[in-house]
Amino acid sequence: MFLNRRNFIRNTGVLLGSTLMPYSYLLANSSQKPLGICLVGLGTYSTTILAPALQFTKYCKLTGIVTGTPSKIPIWQKRYGIKDTNIYDYETMHQIADNSDIDVIYIVLPTGLHATYAIKAANAGKHVWCEKPMAKTETECKAIIEACNKNKVKLSIGYRMQHEPNTQQIIKWAMSKPYGAIKTVYAEIGYNVTNPGNTWRMNAKLGGGTMYDLGVYALNASRYTTGEEPISVTARQMTTRPELFTETDETTHFTLEFPSGAIAHGKTSIGDNMHRLHADCKNGWYNLQPFSMYSGVKGKTSDNILLDIYIENQQAQQMDDDALSIINNRPVMVPGEEGMRDIRIVEAIYKAAKSKAKVLL
Ligand code: NAD
Repeated sequence: MFLNRRNFIRNTGVLLGSTLMPYSYLLANSSQKPLGICLVGLGTYSTTILAPALQFTKYCKLTGIVTGTPSKIPIWQKRYGIKDTNIYDYETMHQIADNSDIDVIYIVLPTGLHATYAIKAANAGKHVWCEKPMAKTETECKAIIEACNKNKVKLSIGYRMQHEPNTQQIIKWAMSKPYGAIKTVYAEIGYNVTNPGNTWRMNAKLGGGTMYDLGVYALNASRYTTGEEPISVTARQMTTRPELFTETDETTHFTLEFPSGAIAHGKTSIGDNMHRLHADCKNGWYNLQPFSMYSGVKGKTSDNILLDIYIENQQAQQMDDDALSIINNRPVMVPGEEGMRDIRIVEAIYKAAKSKAKVLL
């Protein structure tokens, strides 16, 4: 019989106090004017997830857009009441520097374009939110961080899972180790995409490849579940549909070794459905399955504790947390350095797969 969360709190005290309260609600201030957010790139994630989620935030307001597709403008203006003066294209985006309605520029473009536009955003003097994966290379990540530092603006990477309460419990357990030393982590994310189409996700130059769009979830989870940085990686890549995957991989397996001796086995694919994070420890285990869906993240432990805290909207939580870091001038929860660590390892994974040899980190 599983314990429910209320019993878990009562019986263990693990979740007591503010530890798992959403960060934003701890710092709520009803008189705070929301920050003006400008979305760059009005593709699927902006249109179907982020813009609707912004309507649920307390500290953010969608005030601007940057788009290269004029036909989208009237639709977005009608839906969100965006002023004519707050609409830009990729060439005029630098003029946001003069726009006091916009505090934050959120980069939601193909991964291969993140660095160019995140740097433009920083140079406009606005805070930068950049979708995961942060960029294609460690060099690009460094350039984004430097531009934000130079312009004295904050940089947050859109790793929404780190704002999700059940995931935050896993992150805490990496430190407190209630089930003893963490021995083996399994982090697997994949979808069986029958027709991947001709999108940027299949284009190496624009940041395609499973380790970028999807694999970073498994990689980031391997790091936050162990609470350690890997010291080496081995990897292999394969495709069952070579006619479709001409530039990028279909499936990647990677194994990370950590200083404590813990091992993480990661897998990511767009040819196979999977969605689990599992930690085997010296005295038990715990998991989240699914571990990175937009909703319904839940899991359990070897002693029948359910991890099932519900939040209304992950992206609203993420954006409110990030807005409050700006409002209160506090460190952001997921800084550029965190995104860069993953991309450094992603590059090592591709190198390890190609060379079929262990790569030291
Ligand atoms: P998408 O293909 O649906 O949208 C991309 C947008 O970029 C489109 O509006 C397109 O017109 C624009 N664009 C501008 N220049 C382009 C170019 N040269 N080539 C192609 N498109 C160009 O992609 P998406 O699913 O919205 O993903 C955007 C970003 O968001 C990616 O970095 C992705 O990894 C990230 N993402 C994150 C999550 C999450 O859960 N955090 C979910 C989905 C996507």
